[in-house]
Amino acid sequence: PQQQPAYRRILLKLSGEALMGDDAFGINRETIERMVDEIISVVNMGVELAIVIGGGNIFRGMAGGAAGMDRATADYMGMLATVMNSLALADAIGRKNVPARVMSAISIDQVVEPYVRPKALQYLEEGKVVVFAAGTGNPFFTTDTAAALRGAEIGAQLVLKATKVDGVYSADPMKDPNATRYSRISFDEAMVQNLGIMDATAFALCRDQKLPIKVFSIVKPGALQRVILGEDEGTLVHA
Ligand code: UDP
Repeated sequence: PQQQPAYRRILLKLSGEALMGDDAFGINRETIERMVDEIISVVNMGVELAIVIGGGNIFRGMAGGAAGMDRATADYMGMLATVMNSLALADAIGRKNVPARVMSAISIDQVVEPYVRPKALQYLEEGKVVVFAAGTGNPFFTTDTAAALRGAEIGAQLVLKATKVDGVYSADPMKDPNATRYSRISFDEAMVQNLGIMDATAFALCRDQKLPIKVFSIVKPGALQRVILGEDEGTLVHA
């Protein structure tokens, strides 16, 4: 018999870098295809899935600001970068015959439909993947915060933070051979230890809303599926 998912509705946060593969910037075709296969495997389990994707593979507001641009302007460029990634991701999902919709926090009506919460909820109920583009729509925020915000808005049971490492470790696993992975850790403990799960605004929002976060590896094959089945994969940050 098919295994039952442990969650009904989830919000997946992907960084822009996750699309780069080994390239220096932009979107790597093989990488996005592989990621989409992982994503579809959980959609096929009957999980309602929303995605927030970053833009760091194309543009980062902080770097633009540091290089002498007005920070807010640079951040809007960053948000536009997330729109490009969102379109690419939804296109790649749609090509594999899974319906996907992009909704943008800033209006670019000719390109993408605007974020309207009831509409997003409707799509999710219909089994469509919803990709939330343009972050929160505000400068000085990040797509991590957009993930926490949209996750709370849609009543997701879990925010999935995809990283290159398969969870949160007691020390840097690249430098310290004794580093161990936390299977679970509370919001309070993560804060005391300053583990930097998500940026401070995103973390505070999830903590306030008692919205658990799962940190897991997007490059480890099958990890996303194991997370959805409730297995001991990655690190669960809980209330
Ligand atoms: N951004 C923003 N407001 C948001 C989300 C994103 O201003 O609500 C901008 C910000 O400049 C950021 C860029 O978009 O650097 C890309 O997002 P992020 O850095 O979160 O992408 P990731 O690191 O996940 O690829």
